[in-house]
Amino acid sequence: REPQRLSKVLAAAGVASRRSSEDLIFGGKVTVNGSVCTAPQTRVDLSKDSIYVNGNRLSKKFPPKLYFAVNKPKGYICSNGDEEKSVVSLFDDYWKSWNKLNPGIPKPRLFTVGRLDVATTGLIIVTNDGDFAQQLSHPSSKFLKEYIASIEGVVHRKHLVSMSEGTAVDGVHCIPDSVELLPSQPDVTRPRLRIVVHEGRNHEVRELIRNSGLQLHSLKRVRIGGFRLPSDLGLGKYMELKEQDLKQFG
Ligand code: URA
Repeated sequence: REPQRLSKVLAAAGVASRRSSEDLIFGGKVTVNGSVCTAPQTRVDLSKDSIYVNGNRLSKKFPPKLYFAVNKPKGYICSNGDEEKSVVSLFDDYWKSWNKLNPGIPKPRLFTVGRLDVATTGLIIVTNDGDFAQQLSHPSSKFLKEYIASIEGVVHRKHLVSMSEGTAVDGVHCIPDSVELLPSQPDVTRPRLRIVVHEGRNHEVRELIRNSGLQLHSLKRVRIGGFRLPSDLGLGKYMELKEQDLKQFG
């Protein structure tokens, strides 16, 4: 393994996010081979260098890379803090047996890849792999995200036309990849739209719907890239993604 940036090693070791790791380093909380190191770009090798954070020795082992698909319930936030109703708090039970099953291996620090609004349900990826997360959520990524929007009232052709022309979000004109009215079903009372976007700007889908003159009832994400939320994954449940699943993200 090549020596890597100290801040990257701390993040990969599960200490904190890359950015918070930099703050720890700038704050003089990190020593390398006995000396305080305040330069995040310092190259270190976890297997050779002795690194301490806040006086605690960093394990020589990196936690494994983990990937999960989560069916986010309404009311859960995608922040990476310790909030009670955060998406990562859905994993509290997962950690209970970690030390028993993985003795001596540091706990991975999980975070969400991108965000869903607090009221949005459905597919969100959770991982401890910063490179994977960046690749997937980078604005230039061409991963399509598919949403099902349940609408209050009646959807007319003019609404679909307006939506397909796009809308400004954060000063950028976002055009959806497709907007489609789903055929009505006897057991579904509200009209439903299938909306596919690739930009993934904050509130993009909500803005598209609102600016077309429609009122949103609920929003659910059902697909990212080639990975579709399994229909048997209940709200608040997660499944570990294996190599086969990860291929769907390129
Ligand atoms: N677009 C939105 O408006 N909300 C989401 O949660 C995701 C995409």
